[in-house]
Amino acid sequence: MFSTEEYKIKEAPTCPHCKHKMTKTVPPPYSLGEGFGWGVSYLWICFNDECSLFVRGWEHMKENYGKIASYRFMCLPDNGMTETIAVFSHDGLRGGIVEEDKEEEQG
Ligand SMILES: [Zn+2]
Repeated sequence: MFSTEEYKIKEAPTCPHCKHKMTKTVPPPYSLGEGFGWGVSYLWICFNDECSLFVRGWEHMKENYGKIASYRFMCLPDNGMTETIAVFSHDGLRGGIVEEDKEEEQG
């Protein structure tokens, strides 16, 4: 069990690339990078499609790896470490978004 009480970053951080608020997201079942396991119950991810990191990522991946992919900026809530996480479409990782404070009003 993870205790979110011990997390250092409990409030949505701001993406340094686009200044948008990041979104709480359940980690995908895979991890990226050597020896990098998630170890957290959620991640902070920037889902702004105009984020400079995300926009440049498509070109970077195509030029360097010949792949249709990009990456989004993410932050680990437990220690504040920042990373990038690969996505293969604009909707990548969106399935894990935790919608906490919906501003929509019903009725
Ligand atoms: Zn961003």
